[in-house]
Amino acid sequence: MRRRSLLKLGAALPLALSVPARLAARVMSPFARVRPGDPYWPTPAQWDELEAAVGGNLLEPHALFAPCVADAASAACADAAENQRNPFYLGDQPGGTQVSGWLDAWTPAPSARAVKARNAQDVAHAVNFARTHNLRVVVKGAAHSYLGTSNAPDSLLIWTRALTDIRLQDDFVGAGCAGKVAPQPAVSLGAGCMWIDAYSAVTTRAGRYVQGGGCADVGVAGLIQSGGFGSFSKGFGNAAAGLLEAEVITADGRVRIVNARQEPDLFWALKGGGGGTFGVVTRLTLRTHALPQFLGSAWGAFKARSDAAFRALLARFVAHYAERVANRHWGEQVAVKPDNSLKVSMVQQGLSREEARAVWQPFFDWIKASADYTVAEEPGASGHKAQSWWEVQGNPSMIPDKRPGAPPDHGYWEGDQDQVGVFLHGYDSLWLPAALLEPSAQPRLSEALFAASRYKEVGLHFNKGLAFAAPEAIKASLDTAMNPGVTEAFALAIIADGERPSYPGESRPPMDLDAAHRDARAIDAAAAELRKVAPQAGSYLSESNFFNQRWQQDYFGPNYPRLRNIKKHYDPEGLFIVHHGVGSEDWSADGFTRLR
Ligand SMILES: Cc1cc2nc3c(=O)[nH]c(=O)nc-3n(C[C@H](O)[C@H](O)[C@H](O)COP(=O)(O)OP(=O)(O)OC[C@H]3O[C@@H](n4cnc5c(N)ncnc54)[C@H](O)[C@@H]3O)c2cc1C
Repeated sequence: MRRRSLLKLGAALPLALSVPARLAARVMSPFARVRPGDPYWPTPAQWDELEAAVGGNLLEPHALFAPCVADAASAACADAAENQRNPFYLGDQPGGTQVSGWLDAWTPAPSARAVKARNAQDVAHAVNFARTHNLRVVVKGAAHSYLGTSNAPDSLLIWTRALTDIRLQDDFVGAGCAGKVAPQPAVSLGAGCMWIDAYSAVTTRAGRYVQGGGCADVGVAGLIQSGGFGSFSKGFGNAAAGLLEAEVITADGRVRIVNARQEPDLFWALKGGGGGTFGVVTRLTLRTHALPQFLGSAWGAFKARSDAAFRALLARFVAHYAERVANRHWGEQVAVKPDNSLKVSMVQQGLSREEARAVWQPFFDWIKASADYTVAEEPGASGHKAQSWWEVQGNPSMIPDKRPGAPPDHGYWEGDQDQVGVFLHGYDSLWLPAALLEPSAQPRLSEALFAASRYKEVGLHFNKGLAFAAPEAIKASLDTAMNPGVTEAFALAIIADGERPSYPGESRPPMDLDAAHRDARAIDAAAAELRKVAPQAGSYLSESNFFNQRWQQDYFGPNYPRLRNIKKHYDPEGLFIVHHGVGSEDWSADGFTRLR
């Protein structure tokens, strides 16, 4: 046998030597993806073939501000400048990103080509083309990746923005599940939908609820694949917990329908195992729930007159949260600020205005009774008819997409405006364990919050930690790929900052790099203070530190080995690689060179 193999090899040798030099070189370096200008970059005729296969929807994206570099007086340049704080506009550009970069981490760069997919077949054509020609692939939905994982220079972009079908069903049964799983109410969303599309269809128009993201303009597919949290996740779990079925195109170009019974491993990996990693999702079907009668909020801002008074305020807040607020009803945020102020921006589901007020009044009264504090924003609490929560028209908390012809239900929360186009100096997050709310541990927690806030503002996002959530929400969230530590955390602490947009080519005053680096170090120092009381804390992959060295453990905990195996099975050649995505440790930082 052995000799026969050798003879066969020997017989093949002259042929191998006679292949064109470009093919021989390719055989010798099979682990480098090709770039424009490389000899193996597809020929114009091959691009034409792809263009024909996808119905002409092959684009050559440009950087957002490229028109300004070409002609600062052009209408296209004015358009980019005018709309750079409109998240819908940014999402509509093939070269657009919602974040304009991250100091020392990444800079937005358009792909060499983009397929604006109309359906799963277009995606399959793009995937097959990329695999055949050894191209670097990126996948983009609504472009909200903080980590910059939906853009890469010299790549082929598979862009799902145009996949916007929405279908509500009263009695959804997954493929292959007939007779095995009871029908249930659900909504199917094209991967190009944003959460405002889902909420408008499911809540505003149909009077039901679907668990998605808090930020209305985030893409449905990116958020579900990172686990995803919305304001009411303490009631309904992480967003991925509601996934019933997905249509996904894997690296072999196959269109697969996956659910808990059909390719369950891949299905599970799509529930929080990270976007741009296991394939291209084209459709998601999510469970819908009865809409709570009320949705509402609690607000107020208070400033302490001294450090000692601020410490006392933090201690009081922590105790109040533990006693009255840590439950399935309350989510969103409290900000602990360096100027000794505390800002409450909470939301609730399921409580009337009177019930919501009763929860917060003792805390507000305690503050107002003391001369140690001033009130910067008069506190209050509310509960409204739930169905109008995401109505854009006439909603003072929402900013509509004002472009001519924009869908009337496209709007985003006013509170998210600052993030649109932001250039990040730094970002970090960690899940704070519920054990820190035990009476004996509360002083350590409030002191850590005080210490961290000496460096930077700390945001406590209570809806992004699932301790005290509804038991059924916890159970469903544990059946996702997210680090299960999330169910033992009462909040995700986020420390982040940046500055006004700084897209390449944009005209703006030069960045003060020294100040930006100082800011980044301050973020590190604040996060380090919190890690002193939560040394094993994990972190939410979509809202985390680009430079996190223990991302596998922090994002996925004990789920990582299983995710790694699923990745090897469905994408053995690493077609889908993103920064700090499953399997990315095998690749160079730019995703072009296989390291092992
Ligand atoms: C302003 C802002 C607000 C945010 N608010 C929230 C929030 O309220 N709750 C929360 O949990 N998170 C939030 N995030 C984080 C957000 O959920 C993630 O960044 C999410 O991945 C974004 O998805 P996207 O489609 O908008 O972004 P994209 O940048 O398009 O995609 C993000 C990642 O998912 C991949 N991906 C996108 N679509 C697909 C697809 N169809 N198939 C396969 N891979 C895909 C991309 O390749 C990329 O790696 C926010 C982010 C920003 C910038």
